[in-house]
Amino acid sequence: AKKAPANAIIAPNFKFEDMGIGGLDTEFSDIFRRAFASRVFPPGLVEKLGIQHVKGILLHGPPGTGKTLIARQIGKMLNAREPKVVNGPEVLSKYVGQSEENIRKLFEDAEKEYKQKGEESGLHIIIFDELDAIFKQRGSTNSGTGVGDTVVNQILSKMDGVEQLNNILIIGMTNRKDMIDEALLRPGRLEVHMEISLPDEQGRYQILNIHTAKMRTNNVMDVDVDLYELASLTKNFSGAEIGGLIKSATSFAFNRHVKVGTMAGISDDVENLKVNRNDFISAMD
Ligand code: ATP
Repeated sequence: AKKAPANAIIAPNFKFEDMGIGGLDTEFSDIFRRAFASRVFPPGLVEKLGIQHVKGILLHGPPGTGKTLIARQIGKMLNAREPKVVNGPEVLSKYVGQSEENIRKLFEDAEKEYKQKGEESGLHIIIFDELDAIFKQRGSTNSGTGVGDTVVNQILSKMDGVEQLNNILIIGMTNRKDMIDEALLRPGRLEVHMEISLPDEQGRYQILNIHTAKMRTNNVMDVDVDLYELASLTKNFSGAEIGGLIKSATSFAFNRHVKVGTMAGISDDVENLKVNRNDFISAMD
């Protein structure tokens, strides 16, 4: 009997609570159920059922909602190699002329390892951020040099080749799903689509909680900071904006101390730093 592939194991020390993702429990378990369950099936079951692993997923939604966070955590959970991250606009601008070579290189490590180890190979994740920058170009008259089309065709043919490689997972991300070439979203390519929306109030509370955890353990945050109140005040904030809010509030608090202190006193000020309710409210303006 075949041994279980290395990639079919949830990392033993992986804990859902440690992911640092707020408000996306449903989305995460949904993605897992639709796209990754087969990767953790008992050995042999995938072949027995004659099914194929999902090779690509699309995460779409507004900026700063945690798409990159999810993509990276999926990698950790599935015990994958460090993901390769490609930024859409970069592929088309910075690397013009070298794009095809770069795309070839992206898949190279995974191909080599699969050739050597077959099903024993580790899982390789390739993340395409701002995917629309590459895939909206296809067939459009303003693709200029035509670099866009060549790159798109090459990525598509690589993806189709992935059929034979059980050890690659492609994660595409975009704020504009509507702009993406349908050809990319077909079965066998980025076939599972998941919308990651702005967090609701409970999600915002969880995100605030995650981002202030250290400050609260180190007693830097005043008791008058009410995370439930902040969650209700931050309607339409993305996770990234909530992170930014906490940083600004900390700066406000820091500045308050620096104003009355001297440069020499800065380290004391850090010791005395207390972020209070008003710092958050000021930061929100
Ligand atoms: P973009 O579409 O702009 O690439 P994104 O959806 O990939 O954005 P991330 O890069 O994952 O967003 O989020 C940026 C930062 O915002 C994260 O590193 C994290 O600090 C914070 N953040 C966003 N969403 C969440 C969340 N749901 N829980 C905790 N932190 C979050």
